[in-house]
Amino acid sequence: MAARRQLGRVRRLVVKVGTSLVAEPGTGPDPDRIAALAAEIAGAREGRETVLVTSGAIATGMARLALPVRPRSIPEKQAAAAVGQSALMWYYEAAFKRHGTAVGQVLLTAQDIGDRARYLNARNTLLALLRFGVLPIVNENDTVAVEEIKVGDNDNLSALVASLIDADLLVLLTDVEGLYTGDPATDPGARVIDTVESVTDDVTRLVYNGTGAGAVGGMATKLQAAQKAAAAGVPMVIASGRKQGVLARILKGEPVGTYFAPKADRLGARKRWIAFAVTPQGRLVVDAGARQALTHHGKSLLPSGVVDVEGDFAAGEVVALVGDGREFARGLVNFDAGELRRIRGAKTRDIAARLGYKSFDEVIHRDNLVIL
Ligand code: GLU
Repeated sequence: MAARRQLGRVRRLVVKVGTSLVAEPGTGPDPDRIAALAAEIAGAREGRETVLVTSGAIATGMARLALPVRPRSIPEKQAAAAVGQSALMWYYEAAFKRHGTAVGQVLLTAQDIGDRARYLNARNTLLALLRFGVLPIVNENDTVAVEEIKVGDNDNLSALVASLIDADLLVLLTDVEGLYTGDPATDPGARVIDTVESVTDDVTRLVYNGTGAGAVGGMATKLQAAQKAAAAGVPMVIASGRKQGVLARILKGEPVGTYFAPKADRLGARKRWIAFAVTPQGRLVVDAGARQALTHHGKSLLPSGVVDVEGDFAAGEVVALVGDGREFARGLVNFDAGELRRIRGAKTRDIAARLGYKSFDEVIHRDNLVIL
């Protein structure tokens, strides 16, 4: 039996709209569909602060530039995004104007969320827009963001935004009904899962990872988004954006699409930032004993548990912790990569002898560590 959806009163909502709902690679934005989405979102905004995360800039740009296939080179992709983003916003402006809703464009990159100061800045901007009664329309800043500094897909981006502004609900509108038990195109028995309590390996295995033309993510990135949202304590729903009234029904708690339950022990804002917002700058391989101490006994990571140091990072940066070949935690490291290579495996009392000085006992303090 599926558990009941625990959707309290939603005061702050993030809606993510996939490319296939707003634009076709060949023909560009579909004004009728954008108008229908605007009507839905305008309805949802009544009594609720709402942020829209939209895809479709590159598809729109491709249509405007008459590019038959998605550009491969980064400058061309960025050029398509530049053309498409402004065109897309123009459609949204027009559509929301009919509902008396002012919109504001917010373009983010992974760096804007990964850097603590910029993270707070982005948060303040979004909250100020909401206070002004404006609908922020967010996309990745595709025109300047090269791969290394990109979130890469708007599913993950929307979960980061939901976490950033402490939303009560994240809705991913797409062109399928939800998370299926199989590939609905080939498996007649495939059905939509009503509730996912937790995105376990079993759930990930289930996933039929079809991506539509022009789409980036598919279900895999939606499940990553679900994990991020859950950790931030934000429930998430995946549903079809082609169904009229879908948002209103979700907000009433009706069983539409697939509902992902939030974690009860929601991570605090700072730990969420460590866990998800930052791209780790390196990896520490730890031994079984250290892994056990961290995951089961709430301990800090000491030099003695570190087996290997990968990458080049400074003290204070975020690194991933790997045990048994799998990343299981992330944390803010107290030593840089060079120092850690010298003290790995050492007893705490030997740190000073190996480095010539001692700054910290722990490699990663418990307070700066997040178990994933
Ligand atoms: N930012 C991309 C665009 O607007 C879309 C990314 C995605 O669909 O996940 O074209």
